[in-house]
Amino acid sequence: MADLISGTQIATDIIEKELAPRVERLKKSGVVPKLVVVLVGEHPASAAYVRQKEKSAAKAGIESEVRRFEESISETELLEEIEKINTDNSIHGVIVQLPVPDHISVERILKTIDPLKDVDGFTAENVGKLFLGEDTLECCTPKGIIRMLEAAGETLEGKKVVVVGRSNIVGKPVAILALNRNATVTLCHSRTKNLEAETLQADILIVAVGKERMIGAKHVKPGATVIDVGMHRTEEGKLCGDVDFDEVENIAGKISPVPGGVGPMTVVSLIENTIEAAEAQKR
Ligand code: NDP
Repeated sequence: MADLISGTQIATDIIEKELAPRVERLKKSGVVPKLVVVLVGEHPASAAYVRQKEKSAAKAGIESEVRRFEESISETELLEEIEKINTDNSIHGVIVQLPVPDHISVERILKTIDPLKDVDGFTAENVGKLFLGEDTLECCTPKGIIRMLEAAGETLEGKKVVVVGRSNIVGKPVAILALNRNATVTLCHSRTKNLEAETLQADILIVAVGKERMIGAKHVKPGATVIDVGMHRTEEGKLCGDVDFDEVENIAGKISPVPGGVGPMTVVSLIENTIEAAEAQKR
């Protein structure tokens, strides 16, 4: 039976042992790190994610504010709101909770957010720096995955890492972060010819496909470490991932659960990025 990699426990430890003391130091120097979450329209899943972010921010001692806008807000008005946040020195980090309504371009939002306040790590400048291996605000889910692997005692150097999914927010950046740590990386996607042959090579398998329980025991090398990024609600109302946990826990060496795996690591990375942004802006 695989060992469980508990994102919930790792995230709690990071907040208590690392982030809260950093926030205290900033506060002593007169800086209270502040995150603003921009929420457009009513989206039940987004509302739940935003609540988790507010809760973790409070635990770390940072300030957070949710700016809510009607679904009908125009793109120009929203971009003006982001400009206001960019120039407000009391705000260190901003994210626009996705999805946004169809009449608003995510690309234009990302071109407007100040890269120094881009705590999601989605702007072209921050993605470019991540690609170059420079210090930057790294995208939260990939950063959280690497931290959770390290906390579970995994070294990436020389390991065969297989990532399934090549999105700009998870698959591609996590592949680059693993590569920057000297792993040998394979990035799979919907046109990969023989997925099973690729995933069976993995010492570390990271799955971000967005398909409920798609990865089963037949995809996993015995003893491999499996990180499940997927998040789905089943017909019975239970949360599950892209990995068939019941099958794979019998074959993997270590596995992250859903819920309680990558989700809390994503949130803790957002809080850490806000602290990093506040430290950088103070300098
Ligand atoms: P996207 O839909 O943007 O990307 C999915 C990727 O999976 C694509 O690259 C696609 O390939 C690939 N794919 C789809 N089907 C297959 C297949 N049959 N075989 C191989 N590859 C396939 O998803 P995201 O990266 O945004 O999210 C993935 C999952 O992670 C979702 O369930 C999402 O909810 C969850 N998530 C969870 C987070 C957390 O914090 N826990 C954060 C972000 C996401 P192609 O490019 O060829 O189309």
